[in-house]
Amino acid sequence: MADLRGGIDLGGTKIQTAIVDPSGEVLGESRRPTPTEGGPEDVATEMVAALREAAGQAGVETAALSGVGVGSPGDADEKTGVVSSARNLPDWEGSFPLGETLSKALGAEVRIGNDVQVATEAEFHLGAGREFQSLIGVFWGTGVGGGLVLDGKPWLGRGAAGEIGHMVVKRGGAKCPCGRKGCMEAYAGRSAMEAEARRQHEEGEKTDLFKLMEKHGKPRLTSGIWERAIDHGDHLATKLIDRAIEALGTGVASAVNLLDPEAVILGGGLGVRFGDRYMEALTEEMGKHLFVDERPPAVRVASLGDLGGAIGASLLFAR
Ligand SMILES: [Zn+2]
Repeated sequence: MADLRGGIDLGGTKIQTAIVDPSGEVLGESRRPTPTEGGPEDVATEMVAALREAAGQAGVETAALSGVGVGSPGDADEKTGVVSSARNLPDWEGSFPLGETLSKALGAEVRIGNDVQVATEAEFHLGAGREFQSLIGVFWGTGVGGGLVLDGKPWLGRGAAGEIGHMVVKRGGAKCPCGRKGCMEAYAGRSAMEAEARRQHEEGEKTDLFKLMEKHGKPRLTSGIWERAIDHGDHLATKLIDRAIEALGTGVASAVNLLDPEAVILGGGLGVRFGDRYMEALTEEMGKHLFVDERPPAVRVASLGDLGGAIGASLLFAR
């Protein structure tokens, strides 16, 4: 079996792994919950176990893989394989040599990339962005992440490009989870939306959002809870999603004005769930801010689903 690659998508709630052949077909996959206690070593141990399971399904030893790519949150250094400030992972404020640690355990070469950037590249090569040469990936979930492919190549800047969630959509506006004010994510990120819903609910605004959350045994307002509330005509949920779409349209249009890409690929938990439903509203909001408005970019919903991050990570060995 020639040239099989491993991919690991390291998320705040789950570790998704895949074994991928050169055509992008997934031959094995496994998912484990991300440890919520311990530290980077414990997370690395689970990553190794999850990749071994996927390799077992594909009938290959991890040492026989031509490489293992990792899509990581936080500050992921592609050159050194060190990951720093992954704040949604346990005790990962500092730096940890994730690439080296995994490479020793797996017996294969390991490359580390940014989780959103590799998911964008997966959509570019194999998903909703296949027909385009330049695109912006917008991953609308807990936060709002972004990735860039320009003229067929990933654009990383000095390592921190693509932070589209922190495009400013309102000067002096709402407080963002990053600590600054008026970022797109302060209006559209799932966790910022939840904080705003809670604040307005405590001030007396009626909503079923938190009742639905309890009824379905969820620890947070997931994309599914938001959808249920909107289906029931919940006023606050509708208002906050409309506000998120407005912010997304404003921020994404500003990025389009700068880069003039052929397409925008909308992914992430909220993006995939609401992309089709709100496509018209989103493109209308974008249209208000596009400087060249007679040929707007194509806007498509990401098509690789939950496996996109792991497949994209495996592509770190195809660049
Ligand atoms: Zn921010």
